Amino acid sequence: MAKIVIGAHVSSSGGIFKAIERGEAIEAEAIQIFPSAPQMWRQTNHKPEAIAKFRELHAESTIGSVWLHNIYLANLAADTPEHLEKSIGAIVNALTVADAIGADGVVLHTGSHKGAGMDAVVDQVSEALTRILEEAPGNAILALENAAGQGGAIGKEFSELGMLIERVKSPRLQVCLDTCHTLAAGYDISTPEGVAATVAEFDSAIGLDRLAVLHANDSKMELGGLRDRHENIGEGFIGTAGFEAMLAHPAFKGKVLLLEVPGFPGDDGEKADGPDLENVNRLKKIRDAV
Ligand SMILES: [Zn+2]
Ligand SMILES: [Zn+2]
Repeated sequence: MAKIVIGAHVSSSGGIFKAIERGEAIEAEAIQIFPSAPQMWRQTNHKPEAIAKFRELHAESTIGSVWLHNIYLANLAADTPEHLEKSIGAIVNALTVADAIGADGVVLHTGSHKGAGMDAVVDQVSEALTRILEEAPGNAILALENAAGQGGAIGKEFSELGMLIERVKSPRLQVCLDTCHTLAAGYDISTPEGVAATVAEFDSAIGLDRLAVLHANDSKMELGGLRDRHENIGEGFIGTAGFEAMLAHPAFKGKVLLLEVPGFPGDDGEKADGPDLENVNRLKKIRDAV
């Protein structure tokens, strides 16, 4: 059985290549980074030297897969043409950066219909996705992330992502399954039976062959809580037992899991700073035991 890969989101501040050493410092086997500041439209201009250095350090490192996470401002269900165009531009840029640095792909929060319903936006969103894949014609995968369901976020139901994939018909359009969002959206992944039912629903609504990558986060919110609140592994409503059930399921063999957790405060009173060695080790321990 192909081994599950345990990775983490890391900062790329100070140059995109800095992400490699940050990933190695917490013994991550894969990393995820932002292509530019996630709360800003301004795109970072990654110089050719920075990209070459990233590729060089990556090749020498113990890091395998690299993923980008698109900026948070993009919304393909935006209700103004300006917002939609900026969103498309940001995603095309992220896919272009992904290809330049040799990343596997880009994880995307597809957007929010703000209560208008999926039917009201499905044409706009699927046309935008088709255009994005044409304008960034490389190899990078575009992985739509499932959502916790807050504020009309697209992807609360697996069927919403399945509907988009069905319309766009590109092998590059795939899915990122976030474990925290999954539980918050009402899919019980805290038990082996719940994991089996969730996998079966994913397979019928989307197809397991479209599962590109996972975000491994515990949840501060209970089952069906509809809020996106990440928690450290084993400390939330998914719990160690839920992650054991997931990592033991054949659907996830060989998959890349990326942590996006708050982290633990240091012994010396240092405050928590995102995915850390403790969370990486907790997932590795679960992986190696199942
Ligand atoms: Zn996520
Ligand atoms: Zn989240």
